[in-house]
Amino acid sequence: MSKIILTGDRPTGRLHIGHYVGSLRRRVELQNSGEYDKIYIMIADAQALTDNIENPEKVRQNVIEVALDYLAVGLDPAKSTLFIQSQISELTELTFYYMDLVTVSRLQRNPTVKSEIQLRNFEASIPVGFFTYPISQAADITFCKANVVPVGEDQLPMIEQTKEIVHKFNSVYAPDNPVLVEPKALVPEAEACKRLPGTDGKAKMSKSLGNCIYLADSADEVRTKIMSMYTDPLHLQVSDPGHLEGNTVFTYLDAFAREEHFARYCPDYANLDEMKEHYTKGGLGDVKVKKFLNHVIQEELEPIRNRRAAFGKDIPEIYNILKKGSEAAREVAAQTLAEVKHAMKIDYFEDMELIQAQSARYQG
Ligand code: ATP
Ligand code: MG
Repeated sequence: MSKIILTGDRPTGRLHIGHYVGSLRRRVELQNSGEYDKIYIMIADAQALTDNIENPEKVRQNVIEVALDYLAVGLDPAKSTLFIQSQISELTELTFYYMDLVTVSRLQRNPTVKSEIQLRNFEASIPVGFFTYPISQAADITFCKANVVPVGEDQLPMIEQTKEIVHKFNSVYAPDNPVLVEPKALVPEAEACKRLPGTDGKAKMSKSLGNCIYLADSADEVRTKIMSMYTDPLHLQVSDPGHLEGNTVFTYLDAFAREEHFARYCPDYANLDEMKEHYTKGGLGDVKVKKFLNHVIQEELEPIRNRRAAFGKDIPEIYNILKKGSEAAREVAAQTLAEVKHAMKIDYFEDMELIQAQSARYQG
């Protein structure tokens, strides 16, 4: 079976280091592994509009920001198809048909939908499009028959919902010859990367919460954000024993620090375990740890920032890449949609057998 990846991001802001450790870094590795037959990376503008109806300009402006972030981290249009969701009208058609396979109560139980409704204060009035976005996400994943979806942990209930839709579709419409493919989520192994917290210590770094270190932030912005980060409220004096649990600075070190960083920037310790041990015993101050984290993150972000600036010099070319990618994705979507309509028995004009059988019935 072919190995096909689909994943994407909402153009609601620039991408941040949570996206990077949760999904982007992995995508680039998978892309460069050469093990995948096809890789589709989608800018989910239509999905972003479901909770940004009043702000189409924000979504529009951020499409290019996300595309620049993609190219800056190393996604390569020669190896991966980068495309814009709204340009693939077949996706809305697939969504419409999949709606018949999902109940309202199932959507209400989806934990990601629940928490995102809360986050956006939508309890009293949920836009229907937002409420049904897990169904459109199933269309996004299935149009290219993706079997691998690299995502952060918050997306697991979405992939579950897609699997159910695929299973239902195949068992109802195509029991002998399955049309759709069940995807598998690929979540980062390291605990810290599954759901990177915000610089304010909140559970998730998220564009909507304004607690992000962006890939495009300047070196100064990154330093300021790190030096004012949330640590351990009980660690008042350097000599106090520090706590690691919920200590965002250490969570970021878990996600980013490697042994070689210690040799380069903090040779007092051979590795993160040693640093943690000193911190919990007492005698290691937050400022020293933050300065180390700043070195580590700057080292990771500097080449990304530089590549981003270089790609930014030719914006028309970026739109061109997205246009070509969207055209390629659309061809694949049209093929899947044809198979779906055939399985659902709504391909009247392509089905010669139907036409012949009915004429035989009326003539005989
Ligand atoms: P929004 O606030 O608009 O929902 P977001 O910051 O949550 O934006 P998305 O575009 O929804 O970003 O997420 C894109 C991908 O990045 C998903 O696979 C998601 O799981 C992953 N991701 C987002 N935030 C984090 C995070 N803090 N840690 C790990 N992965 C993340
Ligand atoms: Mg999100």
